[in-house]
Amino acid sequence: MRRILCVEDEDAIREVIALNLRMAGYEVAEAGSAERALELLNSDNTGFDCAILDIMLPGMNGFSLCESIRRDSATIGIIMLSAKAQESDKINGLAIGADDYMTKPFSVSELMARVEALCRRVNRAAPEHQGDSRLVSGAFILDQKSRILYKNGEPIDLTQVEFQIMELFFANPGIAMVRDKILEGVWGENYFGDVKIVDVNIRRLRMKIEDEPSNPQHILTVWGYGYRWNA
Ligand code: CA
Repeated sequence: MRRILCVEDEDAIREVIALNLRMAGYEVAEAGSAERALELLNSDNTGFDCAILDIMLPGMNGFSLCESIRRDSATIGIIMLSAKAQESDKINGLAIGADDYMTKPFSVSELMARVEALCRRVNRAAPEHQGDSRLVSGAFILDQKSRILYKNGEPIDLTQVEFQIMELFFANPGIAMVRDKILEGVWGENYFGDVKIVDVNIRRLRMKIEDEPSNPQHILTVWGYGYRWNA
């Protein structure tokens, strides 16, 4: 059974989310604060597939919680709930390692769809790959079994979303990829959000794989279009 951690201090909202998740067949752990969430994470040895984190929380906020969770796990799926529609909030959340975000008020069915999509991706983290699971592109190796990227033999931890973007690049070397195609390939055809989520993830990937992220040599920008992989 897939396990979800739901962190939200407003009881009514948290209860609605948890109820809907349980009806959809998930096991749910609820926390009203980041501190409580960390207790749950530390005392739990089974692990969670996904976490839903509200940003505005009493005490430690959702951004810090997200960072803390990411330090321990590159693979858990993270969706941020933002009360403010300001772009900076969303970008912040994604820059520190969230996979997706939703702005309140949101539709519960849309949240359910996103949780489902994210869990599917996370579940691919332990795939039963047949044959060779290592893809090579220049100095980079993408190990599909361990979901780790290597650059000159050095491992680089990627989130599931980042890993899938790299898979797309490896499959399309030297080809200019329009942002909508990347969005569709990684987030799925029914994604409701906008393509800026692609740019944020690309920025994060560059921080991880480029020697000079401001002067990228591998993930090149194709102005007004998208990105091109250059091994
Ligand atoms: Ca809140």
